[in-house]
Amino acid sequence: MLEKRPDYLPFGKPDFTDEEIAAVTRVMKSGWIGMGPETIAFETELSEYIGAPEVVTVNSCTSALFLALLVEGVGPGDEVIVPSLTWCATANAALYLGATPVLCDVDPDTMSVTPNTILPLVTSRTKAVIVVHYGGLALNMAELRAALPDRIALVEDAAHAMGARYPDGTMVGASGNPVCFSFYANKNLSTADGGAVALFDPEKAERLRSLRMSGLASHAWSRFLKPSSAFSFGIAELGYKMNFTDLQASIGRVQLRRLAHMAEVRKQLADRYASKLAKLHNFIRFQSEALTLRHARHLLVAFFELHDIGIDRDELVLALRAQNIGASVHYGPLHLQPLYCRADAAPLPNTDLLHRGIVTLPISAAMTMEDVDYVCAHLETILMQKRKTR
Ligand SMILES: *Cc1c(COP(=O)(O)O)cnc(C)c1O
Repeated sequence: MLEKRPDYLPFGKPDFTDEEIAAVTRVMKSGWIGMGPETIAFETELSEYIGAPEVVTVNSCTSALFLALLVEGVGPGDEVIVPSLTWCATANAALYLGATPVLCDVDPDTMSVTPNTILPLVTSRTKAVIVVHYGGLALNMAELRAALPDRIALVEDAAHAMGARYPDGTMVGASGNPVCFSFYANKNLSTADGGAVALFDPEKAERLRSLRMSGLASHAWSRFLKPSSAFSFGIAELGYKMNFTDLQASIGRVQLRRLAHMAEVRKQLADRYASKLAKLHNFIRFQSEALTLRHARHLLVAFFELHDIGIDRDELVLALRAQNIGASVHYGPLHLQPLYCRADAAPLPNTDLLHRGIVTLPISAAMTMEDVDYVCAHLETILMQKRKTR
């Protein structure tokens, strides 16, 4: 009999050390916790790491996606193509601007968009496409750019993909498109909440810096440092309050230094899953490329062929959770949610198929090999017992 572990194993857990705690303490004691020098230093370090000349931090990836579409000129009446298999924030970015999200299908192996799943939905009203580096698998942006008309803006939702590499070997974020990252609690690089847009265009970057801070022309902290300019706000456009803070940046700077180590842990865990579950290959296949450098292994998504087992996907997730395994589903497709479904929408057969079988297994830099072995042992037991009792 397999024992049940006493503690719950979440599907994603932040990995913090005394270094992050010391950094927060240092910034708290400095007396400046809002957006300031620490935020600027984090942006500079991210820019060097990613290889994108401009990085603008914001309070979430949701805000990053919204502001990226805004500077790309998306507005009322426009259509924005996004995958249905994503977090709602991807589509909401279009809705906030009065545009219509048009939901597209994905390839069943990569679980990601391709030129073939996007192109049939392009119309004269298509203003932008937001692609998602699903699970952490970096898409081939050169191929997507070449397939789409020049007038259509490409925005990348890289919430899962910090540290992944495009097929040409460059880092995700260095494509020249606006690339949006998330530093949410369970993401690969976490600051509790937060996000960033990496881009190449200095004018769009300057506009983003203003838009995130109530439309102010200069930063609050630079006014603080230069009291002589304290009264010239230079507000020329309606902005938002979507800035990052130095408290968060202090965590992010340490996380960025530790990212290579955390990525290596994720890689070893993913490899362990693959070898432990190899004998179940008739029932389980992982998102393709999940073991390559193109993948940041944010989500370890497996597709379960459950037809011969006599259990459905939701039952499998609940059976795992009953053993304190934080299995999850990414995502309930948007075309099945009331807010986004449209009567005239194109069918999305691959997304529907994936939805019946995808399960996210726990993976995080805070996990151990023993945790993986525990998940795999229970997974095997559940599948084999169900098959026998059928
Ligand atoms: C987490 C996530 C977001 C939103 O990130 P926040 O920082 O929480 O706003 C957007 N898209 C995808 C695919 C995500 O996983």
